[in-house]
Amino acid sequence: MSFIKDEDAAFVQKLFKQYYLEHGEEIYVPERIQEREFGYFTFAEKAMVRHIGFASPSELKQMLAEKAPLHVYHSAAFYKYPRAPMDQKGWIGSELAFDIDADHLKTPCKKNHDFKVCRSCLLDYPADAERCARCGAPLERVEWVCESCLESARSEAGKLLEILESDLGFRKMRVAFSGNRGYHVVVSDEHALDMSQQERREIIDYVMAAGLEPRLLGLEGRKVSMKAAPDLGDPGWRGRIAKQALQLLMSRNVEKICELAGDKRSQTLVRDLEKLGELETDKVPWSALSASSRRILVKAAEEAAAAHVDVVVTQDIHRLIRLGNSLNGKTGLRAQIIDPNELDDFDPAWSPVALPIDEEVHVKVIRSSGIRIRGIEIPPISRKLVRLPLAAAVLLLCRGAATLP
Ligand SMILES: [Zn+2]
Ligand SMILES: [Zn+2]
Repeated sequence: MSFIKDEDAAFVQKLFKQYYLEHGEEIYVPERIQEREFGYFTFAEKAMVRHIGFASPSELKQMLAEKAPLHVYHSAAFYKYPRAPMDQKGWIGSELAFDIDADHLKTPCKKNHDFKVCRSCLLDYPADAERCARCGAPLERVEWVCESCLESARSEAGKLLEILESDLGFRKMRVAFSGNRGYHVVVSDEHALDMSQQERREIIDYVMAAGLEPRLLGLEGRKVSMKAAPDLGDPGWRGRIAKQALQLLMSRNVEKICELAGDKRSQTLVRDLEKLGELETDKVPWSALSASSRRILVKAAEEAAAAHVDVVVTQDIHRLIRLGNSLNGKTGLRAQIIDPNELDDFDPAWSPVALPIDEEVHVKVIRSSGIRIRGIEIPPISRKLVRLPLAAAVLLLCRGAATLP
């Protein structure tokens, strides 16, 4: 928990309570609610309250309005006895859950985000500082996330959905914004539910293109002719690699291609790209490339097309996942359920803003990068008492970057 003072936590909890009282109907109720385990963090305790269950949606909503928890989760699994201790729950099956977290993606901006604060002096420090220069107290880390990180996470979620649907034939999928740094994708097709951990592991490998053998896809070797060129319309990874390969060639960005492939700058690729004339938009110029350029290109295309998910989450058949449309205590934003068809148009700074923006409150901000919230742009702030829309103030209070005066 990151609040600077108990008063900050109490202030935010009151708003959470109001949200659950007024928006109870918008809370996502998972299917077969009686067979799910629920868990939550309160604003006061550090440990999760878990192994709880609900007989009906209204019981769940009543708990939310009463307790106004900091975070709330439910199991992806179905159990005979969801309230029993772990080893006596009687596992029936589990949805296939994927977690995409911007923190795990290699975004170049990441190292600039985080900083540390001294909670007593209300001073900010670089992320690698250990103690406050004024009072000597240990510092607290403030985690930040920027729009480009969120954009990368969204793009991974889009790739994942496409692979799950086109290649693996899943039909029942739900997508949610986490309310902080990432996205969740949950598959609930009947045939996914009883998959073992091993089978889930294979699905992860497939979506991440781990262990993919270009040779077995006919994409590697000296004798690969134009006839063997991958076609944009080929099913599965062949077509996916073809599309990405063509896009990468069109970019003519040797640095990016080599970086994606995990190779050093290749002179052969530079020469091959120079020789390539105008590119056709529907064909990979396979035979115009040398074997080594093809190898680099395939590797880069694989990396660009793979969906980067958190392996541990998907493999864990007892995992708790955040309740859809509940509030995330790290930001005060709603873990918004998204129609998979509308993922491309989803704006994490719009519909997840569930707390009021038309009321304002004074907060002492230690440090804040620019914030965009429902179309309101709040410029960076440093060590200042300011009036902010409630939702923006809550975001800073939750992150431990501001406190009530
Ligand atoms: Zn200090
Ligand atoms: Zn970023």
